[in-house]
Amino acid sequence: MLDYNIINQIKENALDNNIPIMMDDGIKFLKKYIRDHNIKNILEIGTAVGYSAIMMCDVSDDIFVTTIERDEKRYLEAISNLKKVGLEDRIKLIYNDAFNVNLKEKFDLIFIDAAKAQNINFFEKFQYNLKKGGTIITDNMNFHGLVFKDEKDIKSRNLRQLVKKVKLYKDFLNNNSDFSTEFLDVGDGLAISRFNEA
Ligand code: SAH
Ligand code: MG
Repeated sequence: MLDYNIINQIKENALDNNIPIMMDDGIKFLKKYIRDHNIKNILEIGTAVGYSAIMMCDVSDDIFVTTIERDEKRYLEAISNLKKVGLEDRIKLIYNDAFNVNLKEKFDLIFIDAAKAQNINFFEKFQYNLKKGGTIITDNMNFHGLVFKDEKDIKSRNLRQLVKKVKLYKDFLNNNSDFSTEFLDVGDGLAISRFNEA
């Protein structure tokens, strides 16, 4: 059992610094999914300060997470947070851009929670690190509700482009016959993509 006084401090601190960590209902869903599907090995793209990685490990003490972060400051803070909760042996932090990371290992679950515009590329790269029957979960599919807005009501061109990318990713998942994808209105929207067993 992890120390929730420390975890709550990590969470409050992240929120105070506008770090986009998973909210409570998203975390709750992830934990239940991990428990129900007997998931043991997880790859996360987008560590931030380690909050979601820590929460996923909280399901049981035989869960291992490998997580990738490209921002040095966040990576260093994640190291310190893992030490505070005593999870250095179960969470492996990789400091790099995910596109430069090549892993041989296969995982039961891949959690994509990094740069929204790159989701198709993350998916295409890391699907080879998924075990048969495994799942890829992607966060921020609703993009704070912007995905459901009329495009002409989105003033910033930059935001419009991002919204387009999130929609393209939805199409990509829906058209991907190797996976069956469900979209859930949990947190900021999750895509649950299960690798079909051949
Ligand atoms: N999963 C975390 C939140 C992650 S926020 C939690 O819920 O606690 C998204 C993070 O992804 C940011 O810290 C950002 O620096 C990182 N990121 C974005 N693109 C990345 C890339 N290409 N490679 C590695 N990290 C990336
Ligand atoms: Mg997110």
